[in-house]
Amino acid sequence: MVLIESAYLTVKCRSEKSAEEFLHAFTASSHVLSLFKSLFGGVRKETVRIEIKDKLDILYEKVAKHLDMWKVKRKGKTIIEVYDNEGQLHQQYEYLYGKTKLDYAAWYVFQLNTIFLNMEVLTEAVLAHELSHAIVGTYLGFKLPRRPAEVLARNVDKHLYSKLREYREWG
Ligand SMILES: [Zn+2]
Repeated sequence: MVLIESAYLTVKCRSEKSAEEFLHAFTASSHVLSLFKSLFGGVRKETVRIEIKDKLDILYEKVAKHLDMWKVKRKGKTIIEVYDNEGQLHQQYEYLYGKTKLDYAAWYVFQLNTIFLNMEVLTEAVLAHELSHAIVGTYLGFKLPRRPAEVLARNVDKHLYSKLREYREWG
């Protein structure tokens, strides 16, 4: 397990390799990473961690700014559980809810203040959508009903990524 602490988030990846893949999954291109790859033929662990922290905090701030939700009522950071594939995500879903059916590529659980996601289908828009659920929950300090929660989160991802609509449904 690889733990990465950013200003607002705690990211849990299954391995160093999945931390690197996570970074690629939510950033369209990373200049620092490609530079390191071309210079040294590989990416240093530390570089990956710094890039993840920086990029996540920038994205978090972008979403919080759009929502105008800065004041934090709940204590503790939001956790992002990064799974390598659909199988791992389904296993976690079954563990939490006792059922196997899962249509989501990612979802946020208010009670745990945690985002669960499958890296295979992750985009920055998906991440921004889930972060908006977390930011709204953190700001309000209570769980919004499903419909208004989705309206708010979709407003964020539509606003920030109007051209990116080629994803599956997410929760
Ligand atoms: Zn949602």
